[in-house]
Amino acid sequence: VVDVTDLHKSFGDNHVLRGIDFSVRKGEVVCVIGASGSGKSTFLRCINLLEQPESGTVLVRGTDVTDRDCDIDGARRHIGMVFQQFNLFPHKRVLANCTIAQETVLRRKSAEAERIARENLDRVGLTEKVDQYPSQLSGGQQQRVAIARALSMEPQLMLFDEPTSALDPELVGEVLAVMRRLAEEGMTMIVVTHEMAFAREVADRVVFMDGGVIVEQGPPDQVIGDPQQERTREFLRRVL
Ligand code: ATP
Ligand code: MG
Repeated sequence: VVDVTDLHKSFGDNHVLRGIDFSVRKGEVVCVIGASGSGKSTFLRCINLLEQPESGTVLVRGTDVTDRDCDIDGARRHIGMVFQQFNLFPHKRVLANCTIAQETVLRRKSAEAERIARENLDRVGLTEKVDQYPSQLSGGQQQRVAIARALSMEPQLMLFDEPTSALDPELVGEVLAVMRRLAEEGMTMIVVTHEMAFAREVADRVVFMDGGVIVEQGPPDQVIGDPQQERTREFLRRVL
């Protein structure tokens, strides 16, 4: 689904991504771990072109999204993203939050958009909350709305950037449970997370980033359970 080759990105003279080679197959769940500032968010943002990479290629379903002539909106349409901050429209009800992009970007009729939104709100366990405003929901519920909103676009790939980091500890579990179910249903996912237990149980592959490169990657039992690189061991000593 995604093929990244020799990706570089700088902000001024801060060389943040220093040659990333990475790919994800359909149905694969990849968790990205690494210290603050290692470039995890920048990497995710380059995949859906929220950041413009300065060199390297990013193929999304075979289309090079870094190519100037490419239809970026078309490529991005296949990618859903969920952020640490939920970024819901505060003055729109839950249902409308999940239909707007379907109507404006995908040009779906409102009845169809509503049907799809309700299905996905159902999937994340929020059937009862469709008429509420975001401020009437808990953080965990708001993040589940954000997931339902992304799913309503019927993406081929979901990107999650620390989706539980802004939540109170008691609300983390309900969001991880929704993500786990998505993974079991075969969704292709890249998840930046500090939740090592989740990475260990749900990921097909764990990627450890440090200093803008992928230092180590492999099955969770290997990367988290028996890391080969000293930098990975040191990171895990700090977080486990
Ligand atoms: P965290 O775990 O704290 O979220 P991260 O691994 O996601 O960290 P990034 O957010 O990708 O790290 O940041 C990597 C580096 O890029 C940092 O030094 C950061 O200051 C810098 N950076 C990120 N975004 C921008 C931006 N829009 N403008 C300038 N510098 C940026
Ligand atoms: Mg980040």
